[in-house]
Amino acid sequence: SPKQSEDLRSPICCIMGHVDTGKTKLLDCIRGTNVQEGEAGGITQQIGATYFPAANIRERTKELKADATLKVPGLLVIDTPGHESFTNLRSRGSGLCDIAILVVDIMHGLEPQTIESLNLLKMRKTEFIIALNKVDRLYDWKARRNSPIGMTLKKQTKDVLSEFNRRVTYVITQFKEQGLNTELYYKNKEMGETFSIVPTSAVTGEGIPDLLLLLVQWTQKTMVEKLTFSDEVQCTVLEVKVIEGLGTTIDVVLVNGVLHEGDQIVGPIVTTIRALLTPHPMKEIRVKGAYMQHKEIKAAQGIKIAAQGLEHAIAGTSIYVVGPDDDLEDIKEAAKEDMQSVMSRIDKSGEGVYVQASTLGSLEALLEFLKTPEVNIPVSGIGLGPVHKKDVMKASVMLEKKNEYATILAFDVKVTPEARELADELGVRIFIADIIYHLFDQFKAYIDGLKE
Ligand code: GDP
Ligand code: MG
Repeated sequence: SPKQSEDLRSPICCIMGHVDTGKTKLLDCIRGTNVQEGEAGGITQQIGATYFPAANIRERTKELKADATLKVPGLLVIDTPGHESFTNLRSRGSGLCDIAILVVDIMHGLEPQTIESLNLLKMRKTEFIIALNKVDRLYDWKARRNSPIGMTLKKQTKDVLSEFNRRVTYVITQFKEQGLNTELYYKNKEMGETFSIVPTSAVTGEGIPDLLLLLVQWTQKTMVEKLTFSDEVQCTVLEVKVIEGLGTTIDVVLVNGVLHEGDQIVGPIVTTIRALLTPHPMKEIRVKGAYMQHKEIKAAQGIKIAAQGLEHAIAGTSIYVVGPDDDLEDIKEAAKEDMQSVMSRIDKSGEGVYVQASTLGSLEALLEFLKTPEVNIPVSGIGLGPVHKKDVMKASVMLEKKNEYATILAFDVKVTPEARELADELGVRIFIADIIYHLFDQFKAYIDGLKE
């Protein structure tokens, strides 16, 4: 029925981009202004995410005179900006954030991690909007707090405008070099094919109304099917964490469906939800262990789950719920596929480097990258979490077969001192980085060094 088709969940948005472009500041800015305006804003801090209700977005964007109704209940923004969150945001083989904000510093243009973020977005086929941030840093910029960008541009001098246009044109050219068409959002006539740029300042709040409105309008216009509320649970693990008094918990994003206390869940383990938790709404009252407990929670939300056996959960995998008509074995099989889709990327010849990453999502991204023709590094083994002695042992198998592959590419993980010691002893190389490209650069430099 038409009524049901209006039952949309909140779109999920994450923020990506090079370090220091203002990802954290943007999130603070979106959140902060509303907090000052009082409780009416209804913004809630969730586990790993912040929820912005539609009423709040309407208030923030009223100067834009956008009469269009907001059909979504709000917007769920993932809090941990950067890689950690995005590479985790996978679900059944596809990305699970509906839309991303790619932040670019107007003074710097595209930087290495911008390009890496772009590649991840392409790989996940995720829609995104570019926030061209720090416009307030243009020389002689006259700030108009929290203003829509069009209104503030009208107040700028000719010189400021020409500098603004010069930098925008440069960034558009840089994106073109990456094979992407981009345009200022208010000039963009072909959204969907041409990506929109919203000039912003996380310091003055300028352009933030435009960014919020574009996010909500674009998602509710083009993603109705994806955003339609369904009973089928879609839920992804963001982090596995030990919490005093609760034991090992998982922080999840519930993308769709409803979770209940007592639900039987399947990930790498089968267990029963002991508690569904969110932070206490009154954060100021620092009650010890101030989590609110819920009987049930409806998507989209960030939630902490307490249950037995969660130490075996893996960040980046999906959680499945066993319904009354479901066969547990079928669901266990589906949960296994999550791991297997990643395992299948390992080179069958048995020759290749060893790859270690923090989460299943980042591991997948790294494997995908290593497979691209320009890179083309075969992989013989994979691991998750810190590099331990056993990983070094596995990588050392290559010493005899193909020495240069006796190498561990460690992405966003620590190396235990024992593992380091053993690696030195055996002659296994460990390259560490938290930018995928840097791993490639290190490995390539090493291989080139061998050739000389
Ligand atoms: P992140 O690494 O992308 O999370 O970047 P941060 O949010 O930590 O910002 C990096 C630095 O840039 C901080 O000193 C911020 O105060 C500053 N910054 C971020 N956004 C803006 C902006 O819009 N204008 C100006 N002038 N500074 C900004
Ligand atoms: Mg940051």
